Amino acid sequence: MIIVNAARHRACKILTMRQELVESYASAQVPRYTSYPTAAQFSPAVNAEVVAGWAAALSDDARLSLYFHVPFCRSICWYCGCHTKATRKDGPLISYGQTLERELESSALAFAHGGKGPRQVVSIHWGGGTPSMLPADVFQDIVDSMRACYSVSDDAEHAMELDPRLIDEALVAKITGAGINRVSLGVQDFTPRVQSAIGRVQPFEQVASAVDLLNRAGLDEMNFDLIYGLPLQSQADLIRSIDLATSLAPGRIALFGYAHVPWFKTHQRMIDEMVLPGAMERLEMAEAAGERLVALGYRRIGIDHFAREDDKLAIAAENGTLRRNFQGYTTDPADAVIGLGASSISSFPTGFAQNAPATAEWARAVNAGHFATVRGVATTQADRFRSALIEALMCNLSVDVSAIAASHGMKATSLGDWRKRIDALADDGLARRDGDTVMVPEEARAFTRVVAAVFDAYLEPEARKHSVAV
Ligand code: SF4
Repeated sequence: MIIVNAARHRACKILTMRQELVESYASAQVPRYTSYPTAAQFSPAVNAEVVAGWAAALSDDARLSLYFHVPFCRSICWYCGCHTKATRKDGPLISYGQTLERELESSALAFAHGGKGPRQVVSIHWGGGTPSMLPADVFQDIVDSMRACYSVSDDAEHAMELDPRLIDEALVAKITGAGINRVSLGVQDFTPRVQSAIGRVQPFEQVASAVDLLNRAGLDEMNFDLIYGLPLQSQADLIRSIDLATSLAPGRIALFGYAHVPWFKTHQRMIDEMVLPGAMERLEMAEAAGERLVALGYRRIGIDHFAREDDKLAIAAENGTLRRNFQGYTTDPADAVIGLGASSISSFPTGFAQNAPATAEWARAVNAGHFATVRGVATTQADRFRSALIEALMCNLSVDVSAIAASHGMKATSLGDWRKRIDALADDGLARRDGDTVMVPEEARAFTRVVAAVFDAYLEPEARKHSVAV
């Protein structure tokens, strides 16, 4: 109770602002800024031919990161915001995995740089969906091909997202045998009535036993995803879930706000909007959860991550090498991310490209031997300047606008009336400005996206394309 009251006091103090103002900022629809420009700016102008040009233009020493997207789950959780579909059968997974292997091999050819040998891969991430559902032989074939086509660094991070409900000894053997060395588990909340209200029941004992299996196999680099703002969830439920989650000692915790976008993710209509927490409650939940995690020894990372001091994410935040990409906060040092699989997004120094979201269309393109790109955006020098400003704010809560302008060959004046807009946010307690350095005060951390949006040249304030800020 002391913690709950402390959080409420803090949330109000925040911001020494009127409640309507807090609610208006907290419910502002702003991008998550996992890229800039964001996916809302993608267009069909970026196609397979454009991407082939970007691949050919990569410098010889460019390091790559591979992202494999597997859009299948055993069932669909009602809160899910991912690109995935349900299947009870292995047939679609086998066929998908074989196409994924073909795409991987074609990508290696497209990214080959003359006779200089395979490109270096420094990071690999399997996301979805539930990528661990790939049958063992299909999964191992893809990993074998990856090691044959690319030069995978010995210290590469090889991460996979897991559904704790599906973790057993066979699964652990499958992923450790393939060299997975980091896992991320979807935990959300341990409260039974909340789990029922989101269509995903996984008691604490089930998650604890999954973690024990992973730990005994030597897999202890682990992230848990927790969510606040769920239907029927109270602040006390969230805090209890945090206590239970941290008793399993994950090095990282990602604490996301539930994004209710039923006009976009129609299965979210299963969730009763009447029992969703309001903007002020969400803010108080996020604040209370953050304080609890800090009290339990976790360090705040960016807007929604927490890490123990010995975790690589905390170390990167400390030494200024933390980055943000489509997977969120990362230590990935790659120069380009190659997205493989339906709907996956590739990131190049010169732009972003997304594969066809529909599995059949993606497979047709791969089987025809070309990139499955259907949209994207080529970045300008001005975009890259703004992207660096936004990434710095999202990672460090602080940015020296003039210094970044100079490093991009740009002038701060090219950003228009940004000082005025930052000063207006400063009046409301969300930002501070010292000359050309912008900072987000600790107590306004949850509103960092609103401050970053000042540097977004494309944001249409009225468009319902993004989730709420908190
Ligand atoms: S398991 Fe994960 S990806 Fe699959 S439906 Fe549930 S939340 Fe979405």
